[in-house]
Amino acid sequence: MKSVYLDYAAATPLDSQVFKSMEPYLTDQFYNPSATYLAAQDVRKELEQARAEVASCLGSRSSEIIFTAGATEANNLAIQGVMAMFPKAEVLVSAIEHESVIAPAKKFRHRIIPVDSSGVIDLKKLEKMIELDTVLVSVGLVNNEIGAIQQLSDISRILNKSSNSRTNKGLPIYFHTDAAQAPNYLQLQVSRLGVDLMSLNGGKIYGPKQSGALYVRSSTKIKPLILGGGQESNLRSGTENVAAYIGLSEALKQAQNKRKKETERVRSLRERFIKDLEANLPKARINGPKKNVSPHIISVTFPDADNERLMMELDEGGVQVATGSACSASNQEPSSVLSALGMSIADIHSTLRFSFGRQTNSEDIDKTVELLKKIV
Ligand code: PLP
Repeated sequence: MKSVYLDYAAATPLDSQVFKSMEPYLTDQFYNPSATYLAAQDVRKELEQARAEVASCLGSRSSEIIFTAGATEANNLAIQGVMAMFPKAEVLVSAIEHESVIAPAKKFRHRIIPVDSSGVIDLKKLEKMIELDTVLVSVGLVNNEIGAIQQLSDISRILNKSSNSRTNKGLPIYFHTDAAQAPNYLQLQVSRLGVDLMSLNGGKIYGPKQSGALYVRSSTKIKPLILGGGQESNLRSGTENVAAYIGLSEALKQAQNKRKKETERVRSLRERFIKDLEANLPKARINGPKKNVSPHIISVTFPDADNERLMMELDEGGVQVATGSACSASNQEPSSVLSALGMSIADIHSTLRFSFGRQTNSEDIDKTVELLKKIV
């Protein structure tokens, strides 16, 4: 029996074309791209071509793309790298950021931007929070537990207004977004979104794990976290993982090409799932916003049910889902994202995250609801 995989927000399978694009650089084309002989220079050219393609998806310059080992590293470079330049200033992060944004922010003076009960930032509250020494604001584009999409261009406008009215003109306000969950469904043009820094993650877009990138607008003041040979414009030393970065670039191109069709297809699966849940499990509650939500993530509370039991029984029945984000699954802390929505501990322990992807189809939805009907 083939199992039904509904945890695409945790990991996506490697696309076969992406794998093919990587293969030469794991075998024959193994050269260090910094070496000077011709064969290595060819690898350098391919690596720079991959960078140009990532930049093209973002509408940025190639020189503004720094390859990293995943989104955790990109987020750390963005937050710690900028704050290291302004050690006395403060950073604002939203209450529903991934741990890889929250944890580095906690190393500096920071405040948390609240969200409403559906996970949306109140722009008026955010505007009031900006102080003269706020130098960095970090708000994720798509939340990994509830799928909430934040209106980054509106936030950017507020930051620009605050920045222009500053009396201490020297201090900038940079805007960072963790877009790890976004590329399969949303456009990523940095100028439209109004961001100065953007984190990407290959492992969520059918590319290899531990591949990622940070877009850094050229005027941004930022220090490296990893020192050494000066690769990646001196922001991320270490011999480049050529295969991973070429895989990331191919995966990102594909994600953006398939984006419109996949959004439509996955949205209709989402609607089917919600309708079936309402019909068969009327007590179930969907968390997150109704509008402005990525189609692939659905957080559902089944009041009074234990989510660990549900997850295990679904697994035994051949359906793989998550109780929350995969990285917090290993600790027993209640999800900080769901807590930020004001949910009770009991409700958090009754919540499952279902996340859909390219292989999800309507039979998978039907099977999952049938199983849920039996076990909830
Ligand atoms: N940011 C978001 C929104 C995520 O969903 C994840 C992965 O779960 C990450 C960052 C971290 O990604 P990685 O662990 O691959 O570095």
